[in-house]
Amino acid sequence: NINDKTILNNGVKMPWLGFGVYLIEDGAAVNNAVRKALETGYRSIDTAAVYKNEIGVGKAINESGIAREDIFLTTKVWNDNLRKKRVSEAFEESLKKLNTDYVDLYLIHWPVNNFYLDAWNEMEKIYKSGRAKAIGVSNFMIPHLQNILNVCEVKPAVNQIEFHPLLVQPELLKFCKEQHIQLEAWSPLIQGQVTEINAISELAKKYGKSAAQIVLRWNLQHGVVTIPKSSKPDRIVENSELFDFELSNLDMELLNSLNEGKRIGPDPYNFDF
Ligand code: NAD
Repeated sequence: NINDKTILNNGVKMPWLGFGVYLIEDGAAVNNAVRKALETGYRSIDTAAVYKNEIGVGKAINESGIAREDIFLTTKVWNDNLRKKRVSEAFEESLKKLNTDYVDLYLIHWPVNNFYLDAWNEMEKIYKSGRAKAIGVSNFMIPHLQNILNVCEVKPAVNQIEFHPLLVQPELLKFCKEQHIQLEAWSPLIQGQVTEINAISELAKKYGKSAAQIVLRWNLQHGVVTIPKSSKPDRIVENSELFDFELSNLDMELLNSLNEGKRIGPDPYNFDF
């Protein structure tokens, strides 16, 4: 069901389904969206310092009346704070904005060359302080992960990457499985383009589901955590109705075969922010 969880490599439980809030404006917009998601039954929220909506996210959680320990909250440290070696300060700032004394998952947002290894050391300190129940990374490719694994004391629990039928990254998927690093899909709906792909619409018809539901279900059956975003109440509900059907192996393969290695976001080997 909507509250099914994966067990991370440190024993922490994380819901397979979360709610992403990228590009949802702080204030009323993010408040309404997160409140609707929580009412619908989502218990995992994915934000980031750079989304500039941590205050609204924290407020919505606090106002929901749901116990903090029943919610899985993720935020991320932005690149400038890696470069300035301000990871621990950035973490304090996020906690303050979120109006909480811990997060469930703290992520390095991007693998900023020459800085992410030092940053990981700071992440480990935060983890040991108990104020991040798990730590992980985002947009890390195999060589980045290998560099961390070579020196780390605490393994990343999660790698959050762009993942959808046009960008499957099978080697990275396999590597993370072998290393017990939970893969998490960002832009799982290809930022809305999911409805424009014929093969997906055909499957939607076949299963009596929407295109979005087909692709989110495909994430889950890959063992990938998924965090679709929507501001629309009916879509927030739609994107959570993933637990009453199953894609056949053949249809999983069909979706896998749509892979074009096509990114909508930046290339983790070559980004300039
Ligand atoms: P997404 O793939 O979740 O797409 C969201 C968009 O798809 C919506 O704005 C809407 O236009 C459309 N949509 C939503 N539900 C739909 C439905 N049921 N049917 C048809 N269209 C629908 O894109 P996203 O927001 O980029 O990614 C999800 C989350 O991943 C973000 O909110 C954020 O939390 C996270 N993220 C992380 C990174 C990173 O670098 N770590 C980057 C991008 C996003």
